[in-house]
Amino acid sequence: MADPRTGIYPGTFDPVTNGHLDIINRAAKVLDHLVVGVALNDSKGPMFSTEERVGHVEAEIAALDKSLSGRVTVKPFSNLLVHFARENNATVIVRGLRAVSDFDYEFQMASMNAKLDGDIETVCLMASDKYQFIASRLIKEIAIMGGDIKPFVSSRIAAHLLERCGRDD
Ligand code: ADP
Repeated sequence: MADPRTGIYPGTFDPVTNGHLDIINRAAKVLDHLVVGVALNDSKGPMFSTEERVGHVEAEIAALDKSLSGRVTVKPFSNLLVHFARENNATVIVRGLRAVSDFDYEFQMASMNAKLDGDIETVCLMASDKYQFIASRLIKEIAIMGGDIKPFVSSRIAAHLLERCGRDD
């Protein structure tokens, strides 16, 4: 039997959105094991701490179908992605592609990671049409400006966002 295939889905997840969850669901279906890597990413000035972001993704995954959630784990990381992948015996890096604007960055990252470790393959999943406009950055802006974020994140994440923005609606 072939070795189990492990993938890493890295990101900031500040916060995790319905778009991220769609990618997690779809990636878990084609892999034996998926590690969601929550990047420290202090330079992005995240709204939620790494511990909070890991906790949020874990809560979302616990709510998924058991056949999927049992094969997904969540871990923080702050080292080089290919090193984090090796530490987890992962041979696949999963990314989501929303628009042409994502492509340049993802292409450069995939090429660089291939140079750093030729045994690790980057696989990009096309964003589902339902979610392709969702970006954590926009969701945070909408939350801060008093808009409705419920269509884009789970009720759990919406509550965390409203609380962080000092909103009581
Ligand atoms: P980063 O800070 O590395 O961009 P993000 O948390 O924003 O990390 O996103 C992680 C990955 O998820 C990226 O590959 C990004 O393109 C993808 N992604 C983010 N939002 C969506 C979405 N709505 N649909 C599909 N993929 C998405």
